Formats: sequence, structure tokens, C-alpha cells
Amino acid sequence: MEGTIVKIISNLYSVKTVDGIHECRARGKFRNDDITPLAGDRVIIDPVNNYILEIKNRRNELKRPMVANIDACLIVSSLKRPTFSPFLLDKMITNVLLEDIEPIVVLSKYDLLTDTEQEEIKELISYYNKIGIKMILNTDTNTLDKYIDGKVLVLTGQTGVGKSTLLNKLDGSLNLATDDISDALGRGKHTTRHVEFFEYKNALIADTPGFSALDIEEDKKENIRYTFPEFNNDGCKFRDCKHLKEVGCAVIEDVNNGKILPSRYESYRRMVDDENYSFISEK
Ligand code: ZN
Repeated sequence: MEGTIVKIISNLYSVKTVDGIHECRARGKFRNDDITPLAGDRVIIDPVNNYILEIKNRRNELKRPMVANIDACLIVSSLKRPTFSPFLLDKMITNVLLEDIEPIVVLSKYDLLTDTEQEEIKELISYYNKIGIKMILNTDTNTLDKYIDGKVLVLTGQTGVGKSTLLNKLDGSLNLATDDISDALGRGKHTTRHVEFFEYKNALIADTPGFSALDIEEDKKENIRYTFPEFNNDGCKFRDCKHLKEVGCAVIEDVNNGKILPSRYESYRRMVDDENYSFISEK
């Protein structure tokens, strides 16, 4: 019988199958083969003795959090309290794309913005959607349902941005503690193996501190430019151009003629080159 590991507590694996949850143990052979079952793993189980017999090949595997077979990452970002940071958001998007996972950005606390700020955010949303990055307000649950249907997802974002509120909104029965409470309980100290997927309609979602704290590994920095779909990487006349200062660079041209959002280019510069780079102040 086939299923998905949705929760791991020490050596006990909760496997969701068509006939419900089976609490399974892993056979010793996995330890010998140096394979650790992960949350998200597709597995074959012996439903009578409740043993995991086989782990299917993984589509992907994350280190932090330790999960497998993730289709998409829900990035929840607050527009106020804490203040919206395009840089942190772009960094999370880049981290997710570097793992070959689809980012879905959900913006919270839109109602706390002034009219002018709301207009700016609407423009921002249409820019991201235009370049192919899914971005919606957390109140748009119909679209969210469509985006996550049938997928295995992780939910991430800074603390205090309303992740648990979002999960609760998705399914009132989850009744999760607020971010603040779980932080007070020291959730941050939990091991990365402590992952649990919640079932929501046809999707599996894990709430995890994961990506937000991640710094981009040095050997992956070369690939950051490919996580910006609006960059004309191949059209740049300089081979292997980093799009930083080169005169005649196609990307810099697109920034100057308004095709690329200044905050996006600023995020790029800060990720690859200079943490303190500011597009605005250089003008
Ligand atoms: Zn260039």
C-alpha cells in the first residue's frame, strides 16, 4: 500500500494512505542503507504490521526544513507590522526557486495600509504576476485554493506575519497557536526534523520556519540571476554577465528604461554583491 509520510515523531512515522493514517516504523534496512525517511516521502507500507517497506525516489529534498517532494512553497509576507520588506521577500523567492520549487506569495495585513500604499501594492502584485511569480492577498482564498490544489507545500515567512492565522483561515479546525505563542514556547529550538503536514482539502501543508532564515550558499550565488524571470540573461551581450556595472548590459538597460522594477534589481544587487546596495540612493 502506498502513502505519504505526514508526520514524524522520533521513530514513529504517520503515513497517510487512501484508508487513513497508519502509524508505522521503519525497517532497519533504511538505517543500514543510510536513508532516513523524511516527511513528504512517498512510501510503500505493510498495512498489517505497520512497517515502511520502501521509500520512493524523491523529486527533491530540502535540508532546512528536512522534507521531501515539495511542489510549492507558500511565502507569507506581511505588508505592515512587521513592515513590508521587498528585499526579504525577494530573498525568500530566490531561495525557493534555487531549490526548483514554485513560490506562491501570500501578502497579509493589506487592510492596515493607507489608500496610497494599497495602490502601490496593487501595482507590485501585477508586476510579480506579469513576470510569472504567483502573488495574491491572503483574503483571496479562492485563488489560493486553486494554486495549492493537489500539492505538497511548505509554508514559510517571518514570524508575526500571520502564518498560523492563514492556516487557521484555511481550515478552522486546525486551531493552531499564533506565531507569538509558538515562539514563546520556543518553537525555534525544535529540530528541523520536527515537521508535520496538515491536510487542507486536496493539499498537504507544513508550517515551518525554514527558508526565511536561510542565507544563500556561496556556490549557489552564480544562479541567483536565473531566479529573476524578468532578467534578459541570454539577451545580454556579455557572456556570463553578472549585470552589476557593465556598460551596455541588457539587464541594467531594462532597469533604466523601467521594464524591471527598481526594488527587484536592488534585491538582486544586495544578494549577489553588496548587502547595503541601494538603487534609489545611487541616482
Ligand atoms: Zn548583463
